Amino acid sequence: MRIRVVGAGPAGLLFALLAKRRFPDWDIAVTEQNPPDATFGFGVVFSQGALAFLERDAPDLHAALAARMESWPMQRIVHRGEAVDIDGNGFSAIARLQLIQFLQALCRAEGVGLAFGRRLDALPEADLVVGADGLNSVVRGTPGFAPKIEWLTNRFVWYGTRQRFECLTLTFRDSAQGAFVAHHYRYSPEMSTFIVECDAATWQRAGLDRMGDAESRAYCERVFAADLGGHALVSNNSTWRQFPLLSNAVWSAGNRVLVGDALRSMHFSIGSGTRLAFEDAIALDRALGEAGEDVPAALAAFERERRPVVEKLFTAAAASSWWYEEFPARMARFDALRLAYDYMTRSGRMSDERLCALAPNFMSRIKKGS
Ligand SMILES: Cc1cc2nc3c(=O)[nH]c(=O)nc-3n(C[C@H](O)[C@H](O)[C@H](O)COP(=O)(O)OP(=O)(O)OC[C@H]3O[C@@H](n4cnc5c(N)ncnc54)[C@H](O)[C@@H]3O)c2cc1C
Repeated sequence: MRIRVVGAGPAGLLFALLAKRRFPDWDIAVTEQNPPDATFGFGVVFSQGALAFLERDAPDLHAALAARMESWPMQRIVHRGEAVDIDGNGFSAIARLQLIQFLQALCRAEGVGLAFGRRLDALPEADLVVGADGLNSVVRGTPGFAPKIEWLTNRFVWYGTRQRFECLTLTFRDSAQGAFVAHHYRYSPEMSTFIVECDAATWQRAGLDRMGDAESRAYCERVFAADLGGHALVSNNSTWRQFPLLSNAVWSAGNRVLVGDALRSMHFSIGSGTRLAFEDAIALDRALGEAGEDVPAALAAFERERRPVVEKLFTAAAASSWWYEEFPARMARFDALRLAYDYMTRSGRMSDERLCALAPNFMSRIKKGS
């Protein structure tokens, strides 16, 4: 059995690792367009307990990540200069590059073929081709798939900074040109992720559509001066983008299957893209474990198991992204406490009862109204 994986992100690497462990005699190789030490973005964040699912299928990966992660027990909302903590809403974070390189090392040790610096434009010969090639997937562009993409109108840019933040924080700031929000958290003892977002009109009024990297960073440093504590923003090919809500009616075509971001996007505000990429990899490996070399049966089983979970989360992530599309109006309407409550209930899946159980201190403030 010959399997070719396109893309060495979290989905492609974890799938290759698990499948090779299960079937050591199979010929499994991954092709990646970038060098092994390159990656986009900075850290990635996981909601508390979100990695527990890794314990069964990849205990060594789970232990390594748990040992390296920065964790904290609450989330913070900063608005009009006031900070509101939401207890119980904990997260953990790690550098994306560290995560990827750890997976690379495990793959190498297991005998997975890894080829870097090679962009695939035509599909490789194989019994199974796994499209783990992210949002702009080449595999998804081959006949038989039916992607649907809707572009959010907000603009965002993914920076880093040496400022250490205590926990995952959403900071809302006004500028003369309009409203901005930053999603920020530390992902290592020295570094934090700092994603800046604003609506399209603000982006244009601020001239960010015409600015280069240095000017754009300087502008954001001024907007978030009170939060950055004198630290600069750091770029990693950081450009202003619009987020695509991508879904796929067809998950596999012939011997080709999509996983991770190639299959669908999850808005970064729910911090689940990497976890879902991992879960796809685990589900595809398990489906092969049951079906063996019967590729059509494995792909059908993979879709049967994953589609309901993915569709539910996609709906929640889309609801979360729509909240951000309207955040300037919400900033104007609510004080910090009310904005935090509005934020926590944005997906429509969080009842007051659940929120009381999750965040009793926060909810007692809400009930008191201050
Ligand atoms: C601003 C932002 C913040 C985010 N924050 C978080 C977060 O905090 N937590 C979280 O869980 N997720 C986060 N995500 C989402 C997360 O990054 C993705 O969901 C996750 O990386 C998906 O993994 P993947 O393996 O499917 O795809 P990717 O990580 O995109 O990997 C795909 C790989 O395929 C390679 N590739 C593409 N085309 C080809 C080709 N033709 N030939 C060879 N190689 C190719 C790419 O170079 C890349 O390495 C964030 C995303 C964004 C945009």
